[in-house]
Amino acid sequence: MAEEFGTVVIGAGLAGGTVVESLRDAGYTAKIALVGADPAAPYYRPDLSKKVMIEGSDPAESALRGEDWYSAQDVSTYFGTSVTALDTSAQKVTLDDGQELSYGQAILATGAVPRTLDVPGAQLGNIHTLRDAGDAVAIRSQFGDGKKVAVIGGGWIGLEVAAAAKSNGCDVTVILNTDAPPLSAVLGQELGEYFEDLHRKNGVNFLKNANTTAFTGDSAVEAVETSAGSVPADLVVVGIGAGPAVDLASSAGLTTENGVVVDEQMRTSDGNVLAIGDIANAQNTLRGERLRVEHWDNSVRQAEVAASTISGGTKTYDWQPYFYTDQFDLGMEYVGRGGPEDDVVIRGDKSSGEFIVFWLRSGKVSAAMNVNVWDYGDELRALVGKEVSADRLADEQVPVGEL
Ligand code: NAP
Repeated sequence: MAEEFGTVVIGAGLAGGTVVESLRDAGYTAKIALVGADPAAPYYRPDLSKKVMIEGSDPAESALRGEDWYSAQDVSTYFGTSVTALDTSAQKVTLDDGQELSYGQAILATGAVPRTLDVPGAQLGNIHTLRDAGDAVAIRSQFGDGKKVAVIGGGWIGLEVAAAAKSNGCDVTVILNTDAPPLSAVLGQELGEYFEDLHRKNGVNFLKNANTTAFTGDSAVEAVETSAGSVPADLVVVGIGAGPAVDLASSAGLTTENGVVVDEQMRTSDGNVLAIGDIANAQNTLRGERLRVEHWDNSVRQAEVAASTISGGTKTYDWQPYFYTDQFDLGMEYVGRGGPEDDVVIRGDKSSGEFIVFWLRSGKVSAAMNVNVWDYGDELRALVGKEVSADRLADEQVPVGEL
């Protein structure tokens, strides 16, 4: 006999943890189940590649709530447990130990799965992807003076891990499969070069046009073999992107296309199932387009929308995407969604390390990024989508709030 819940949340990451809190904040009183494969209670995932990796902090310090909070809030937790089936007509889920939970509403928050490299030697020790607290602790435990770290991929994971490893005395090489600078697919050539420069100045090496063909070593990795040569490595971190974990949703017959398709209130194609966070391909009402965003801010805010939807509220997905990064002495925030082909306008002097960047598409601001310049978050967010000339954006005599 299935245990009955008002809401079953599938996935106990940042989105899953936040939706439970938001439901209780909204006065939702029915029983809630929170099921997640990670053995830990939900935590603040951005800390993994920053605080945990750089300072060696205990991931438990990044927990959203202590485990006792869940019992005090009448939330039944099933951590270290996977959902193996979602039956939308019977409104129940099956857990990996055979238990069944029935629901009034189910919320899918299954997140993203890191891509891996299917090459010879991929099973060797000390080759990691970075997704959960266990990965972060395992990677960090290998850092040390002179340790050879190879990072494959020049995206956010790649560069944040490279900075953390270098700051901990490692000898770091970032392996890129193109000639382009890291992050250029998101930030464009000029800002990609800025990040590459920052890393080079701090002693990180780059190997470009290098396709990884194999890992070699006895039981643990000793080298990454690439089309551009061999890179000695005591530790490898593969950061080549992630894909939405949609298997459960697809098997349940929900509409999926680049994630789980949801409306502006996070409802899937089934009236009793919502989806949030990295898996949600959601209708953004502000931008008038569908977006699937793999950043923490999106997980938190979509969780708040889902809680509102279930509680009869009217919140919608109506904000610009946002994220931040910290690498060496650079801290930045980025709002909007620019493209590598957009025009880039720099406000301030890049060489000072403190400046603002705007991306312009068809005369409108598509995104803005503040680098080591703070307190403009709201103003920059408000500028996205506005028509402002490049000259005015660059003119430091015009206050940001008056652009
Ligand atoms: P990512 O940011 O998408 O970057 C992956 C990089 O790997 C891209 O530059 C990609 O190049 C490259 N790549 C793909 N296949 C490759 C291969 N076979 N060999 C070498 N390079 C390859 O993904 P990620 O860094 O793995 O991060 C995973 C997710 O977590 C992303 O969605 C990211 O946004 C998120 N995240 C965010 C933050 C933050 O907000 N600060 C921090 C960490 C992670 P192409 O673009 O040419 O394919």
